[in-house]
Amino acid sequence: MKSFRKELFFTTDKRYQLIHITDAVQKAVNESGIKEGLCLVNAMHITASVFINDNESGLHQDYLEWLEKLAPYSREGYHHNVGEDNGDAHLKRQIMGREVVVAITNGKLDFGPWEAIFYGEFDGRRKKRVLIKIIGE
Ligand code: ZN
Repeated sequence: MKSFRKELFFTTDKRYQLIHITDAVQKAVNESGIKEGLCLVNAMHITASVFINDNESGLHQDYLEWLEKLAPYSREGYHHNVGEDNGDAHLKRQIMGREVVVAITNGKLDFGPWEAIFYGEFDGRRKKRVLIKIIGE
């Protein structure tokens, strides 16, 4: 069995941002040389997510509006916000998830219809990382 590890780095302009990373993940699969296996992609920060859904801008706006209703940004009202102001971002990350695992078949990410991988940033404007770990043959 082979294994391959790579990190992606993101510094968003905005506090919240959803970034399409499917091409970057497929590039890592290509670099790994693995044809049959599993690909894990996870945010390495507790205020960011990796998730799979449709690459459609209206849906992304719906996510951001929905998350803002669930956990609105505020310096007040979060017990976590003692010297920090990202209580909302921890909660947003929790609901959008930490990681995805995608099968690799014949050297390609083996998606269902319309599936695409996204990095979800909820406390941006600083350098953050995503881990890609691929195992297989
Ligand atoms: Zn925090």
